[in-house]
Order: sequence, then structure tokens, then C-alpha cells
Amino acid sequence: MMSNLSFVIPGFGILLILLVYYFSRPQLSTRSNNTFIQLLGIQSLGLLLDVCAGMMQADFGSFPLWMHYGILTAYYILFAARIFWFYLFTVDLLQVDLQARATRMILSFAVFAIAEISVLLSFRTGAIFYIKDGVYQIGNDYNILYGCFLFYVMLSFLLLFFNYDRLERYQIVSIVAYNSILLLGNLIHFLFPQYLVMNTFSLMAIIIIYLTFQNPDLFRSDRGPSFNSTAFRFMLEEVGRAKNYRILGFVLRNYADEREIYGYHQMDQGIGLISRFLRDLCPGDTVFYLRNGCFAVMGNERMDWDTIRRKIYERFQQPWNADGADLFLTITFVRISSQSKDYDSETIINRMLSAFNEAQKKYSVDDILIDLDEIHDVDRQVDVKRALDRAIETDSVEIFLQPLIECKSKKMIGAEVLARIRNEEGRIIPPGVFIEIAEQNGQINRLGTQVLEKACRFISEGNLEKTGLRWLNVNLSPIQCMNRDLARQFRDILNRFQVNPEEVHLEITEASMVDFTILEKQIQSLRASGFQFALDDYGSGYSNLTRVKHYPFINIKLDLEVVWDYFREKDVLLPALVKAFKQLNFTVTAEGIETREMEEALSSIGCDYLQGYYYSKPLPVPEFMAKYTVSDLTKPVKKSETAEVRAFS
Ligand code: C2E
Ligand code: MG
Ligand code: MG
Repeated sequence: MMSNLSFVIPGFGILLILLVYYFSRPQLSTRSNNTFIQLLGIQSLGLLLDVCAGMMQADFGSFPLWMHYGILTAYYILFAARIFWFYLFTVDLLQVDLQARATRMILSFAVFAIAEISVLLSFRTGAIFYIKDGVYQIGNDYNILYGCFLFYVMLSFLLLFFNYDRLERYQIVSIVAYNSILLLGNLIHFLFPQYLVMNTFSLMAIIIIYLTFQNPDLFRSDRGPSFNSTAFRFMLEEVGRAKNYRILGFVLRNYADEREIYGYHQMDQGIGLISRFLRDLCPGDTVFYLRNGCFAVMGNERMDWDTIRRKIYERFQQPWNADGADLFLTITFVRISSQSKDYDSETIINRMLSAFNEAQKKYSVDDILIDLDEIHDVDRQVDVKRALDRAIETDSVEIFLQPLIECKSKKMIGAEVLARIRNEEGRIIPPGVFIEIAEQNGQINRLGTQVLEKACRFISEGNLEKTGLRWLNVNLSPIQCMNRDLARQFRDILNRFQVNPEEVHLEITEASMVDFTILEKQIQSLRASGFQFALDDYGSGYSNLTRVKHYPFINIKLDLEVVWDYFREKDVLLPALVKAFKQLNFTVTAEGIETREMEEALSSIGCDYLQGYYYSKPLPVPEFMAKYTVSDLTKPVKKSETAEVRAFS
């Protein structure tokens, strides 16, 4: 009753190729991976026993009876175990915690136990198999094995039904496919018990699993001996649930620029060298190369990350020799630890990636520490997105105004319009949080339109005259500039409110100058409509004086970090810069003025306008009017420190 050898030998060959290929690659130690290795073991042993049994049956008399029984018992034990392990593998993939509920646990193991006990006792009871006249025979209760098979395949389908949302589509298809193949094998085996095809069918199932989930190449980084971000996600999904862990990440600063400078090929080689160094440095931990110069080492809660950090840091004091070129690279560290278990991998990855982004932009080498227990970034993002949607749909984006003070007269001469939205509880969400999100999902266009409309309404109600303002500054995102229709839309809004374009200055951040070729046309046509431009946040990005010179700005706004830096350590740079701008006929605004000393110092080096908390925080329009209306002398000037209640500080 055993399958003939011509069936088994090719199966063996295929399995062997799979095994060699599989074990020659680095292994990711996840739960599903371990289960898969066990499954491979069971399958190999099952095939081996199949061959042995086939040969022993053919030459029955040469072997003692107990050996025949022994080999048959072992064969059927593995037969039942195999389907159970397929089931366990599905359980791992779907991240079902069997131990969490006693009923689940008992249900899962009971049938397996019954099948195995029946097999074990068969040499006495003959329930599953027996030997008669030198021939292996199927027992009267052989149906127990079919039942066991059917049970676990059905249970797998059931689990999939309740947990499919954890997987991607192709993974779901794959789970359905390998379970269907097992089911089909079982059916054929049931209908034609003389053909023992189960080995072949389970090999097919294993190949499907291998192709979809276990191919080591799915997890390998293409640069050096490290794992990739798919592997990172996988590990987080499992480790994140199971136990405490630590992640020490670091990022090559200015990765994109360095790649340009040193060359792509050299840089890729460098990443390979770094991966190798990390693997040798922490052999017990898992090393990942995520992308864009981001590395991560993941270990358990005993990982000695201070030592590892120090060693990595020391190594980076030396150049990396890639293809004869010496790469001098600098890094910033990101550390993640969590005591809690209930973070989904998505949260951790998002948090991690945004920390990497942050680190890549940082000028200092300080580490970034993230304690997941303190930050619920994803909730926050969802909250912000919802607030954005609502604000835009209901036309409730608010504008706050912050005065611009003329140095000469010490009087307010203009104001910057700053956007605000509120969360569900009515608390203010600052633009630092929502602008980036709005830029990413394109909502910035409608948001920007609303801000401009509200600024125009403010002007059309005669508020400039009431407060002695000459103009308003409105921020323009570089994303808005990608909209070809922008100039026409802005002109229409101004026409609708009958506002003179000279009363609106548009601020463009310095960062957007990187893609200036695209901006240039846009600025030209807006200028043709009468708008004027200021360069915002000068000094926060790649400043190129010679380039700035050619652009049609009327005003340069020094970034508040630049202003504060000057104040921490006074040198000749800022005064020289201001002087240069003045000679090029730009007016200069200093942002972030918080004290009288700052006011005096920046006035004395020649700035034209000042902006900052020293004068006022950004205020809602009613408060702004109450505080600054000149004609209405009867109203007391309100203090307005409480104007902004920040929801996310
Ligand atoms: P920004 O255009 O550089 O605006 C100045 C920011 O500096 C404002 O932050 C203002 O509150 C803050 N600031 C002013 N003086 C001081 C000071 O003395 N000390 C400190 N610590 N901060 C000061 P805010 O309102 O949070 O805006 C942040 C950024 O969001 C703005 O930077 C601007 O780039 C962007 N933004 C705001 N509203 C809009 C908008 O309507 N459209 C677009 N595209 N971007 C906007
Ligand atoms: Mg601005
Ligand atoms: Mg600014």
C-alpha cells in the first residue's frame, strides 16, 4: 500500500534542492520561519520513511516484524503531524495566539492527539494499519486520519476567514491555494487509497509556501549581508507582540548628497561594508538595511546598545574604503524601545521612518530617542487627517495674524497670515503638524485657497486701514506652485474680494528653491498679476546667495534658527549677510524676536522688519482687531497670551 519509488524519488530531489537553497541563505528567526523549518523536517523524514517502507514491504521476509510495525508507526505519526504543522504555519502567518484561549488551544490539539494515539496503538488495535500475510493494510478506523486532515484544513480556512485583514491579497490567495491543494490530496487519497499521493501534494503545498512566504531572497537586502525592510516588518510583527525588544538605528546623514558626491556605485559598496561590519559586531542580533542610508539592529531587551552604539560611532570616525575611494560618513542614531506589547508594526515603522527622516535633516549629532509608550503617532496622524478633511470641507480653516514691525518707526506695518485648524475637541493643531500632511495628500491646494480667501475677506472688510497695516504676508507651499492654474485662481480670488494684489505678499520657503526651475514660471505669472514675493526661512536649507540674487523677491525673511544662532554666538556672518541683502535691494525681516536685546541687536545690524513673540504671538482675527484697531480708542487693549492653546505640544 505504499507509493512506488518512481513517485518518491523526484519528490526527494525537489525537496533537496529546496533545502540546500534555503539553508545556504541567512535565516530570519521568526516564528513562522521556525515552523517552516520543522515542516521541512517532517516532510523530509516522511519521504524517507516512505522509501524505507516501500523497500521493506518489497522484501518483507528480510526484516523482523517489529521493524515493520516500527516503520509504519513512525510513518503515520509523521503523516498526522504534517497536516498539524501546516495548520501551525497558517496560525503563525495569521498571528493567531493559540495560547490566549483555552478552548482554542484544546480544539487545536485534541484532534491531533486523538490521531496520534490511534496511530501509536495501531500495532495492537489495528485501527489505522495492520499487517496481514506480509502485506501492509489500512485499518478499519483509517478514516480518523482523513478526518484529522479535513479538520485542520477547515480550521485553517476558518482562521483565515476571521483574520484575513492582517495579510495582503497575494498572501491570502497563497494560503487558500496551499490548503486547497492539501484538501485535494486528501480527497484523492480518500477516493483512491491505493495511490498514495499525499507526499506529492504536501510538497506542492510547501513549494507554494516557499514562493510566497519563505523565500530567503524576499528578506535579503540587495546590498551586503543584511535583511531588508520587508524582513524588518515581519520581525516587528512577531517580536513586537511576543516580547520586549530594542532597536538601535542610525542613518547616514545627507545620504542623497553623499551619493552624488561619492558616486552611486561607491556608496552602495560602502553600505555593503557597513552591513558586514554590523553583522560582525552584533552576531546575536538581526541587522537590517532599510533604505536611503537607514540601518537598524534589532535585539532583545538585554541588547547592550550603549556599547554597540559606541563601537559604531568609533568606526565611523574612520573612512570606509569602497573601491579605492574613502567615504567619510557621519551618522545620527535613533533608538527605539518598548515595554508594551500592543504596537502594531505599522505604528513602529512609521515612527521609525519619521525619526530617520528627522535624523537625516538634523545638523547636530545628538541621538533621537523614541519611547513608543509615549507617542501614538499614528493615532495623531489619523486625528490630524480627519481634522484637515473637516476643516477644508466645512470651510473652517482659520487664520491667525502675527504683526510685522518696522524697525525705523517701531510700528506694525504688516502681518503674516498663519493657518490653524482644530481637532474634534476644538483644540488648535499647529501648522507644523498639519501642513506637511496636507502637502503629502494634496489638500494643501484647497487649504491654501481658503487661507487666501480669508486674508482677502479681512482686507475687503477694511481691516488694514483700521489697524494701520499696509499689507498681509500669505504663505505659499511649493506644492501649490505645481498647480498650473494657480495664478489664475489667485487672481480670481482677489477680483472677487476686490483686493489690490499689492496688499498681498506671498512667502515662499527657501527649501522650495531646490526645484526652482518649476517655480520660476509660476512666480513670473503671479508677479505679472501684481503679487509680490518674500523668501521665507532663509538659512534653514541650502542657501545660495548668487541664486537668490536673480529671483524677484522684495524681501528676505531670516529663519528664526539663524537669528537665534546669532544670538547664542555673535559673529560677523549675519551682519555681513544682512548688509549684502541690502546692497542687492532686498528688505530684510528677522523672525523669532523674543526679547528686547534681540530687537535692538537686529535693528542695529540693519534689518528692516521684525517678527516675533516679543511683539505678539499669532492671534485670531477678533483678538488681533481688538488689540490693534487704531481708531477704536474706547476698547481696552487685551492681553493675548492665552490665544493659542496647543493641542500637540
Ligand atoms: P513661517 O512662515 O516661518 O511662520 C513663522 C512661524 O514662526 C510661525 O509658526 C510663528 O508662530 C513662529 N514664530 C513667530 N515668532 C516667533 C517667536 O518669537 N518665537 C517662536 N518660537 N516662534 C515664532 P507657525 O504659525 O506654527 O507656522 C509654522 C509654519 O507653518 C510657517 O512658518 C509656515 O511655513 C507654515 N504655514 C503656516 N500657515 C501656512 C499657510 O497658510 N500655508 C502654508 N503653505 N504654510 C503655512
Ligand atoms: Mg512664513
Ligand atoms: Mg518663516
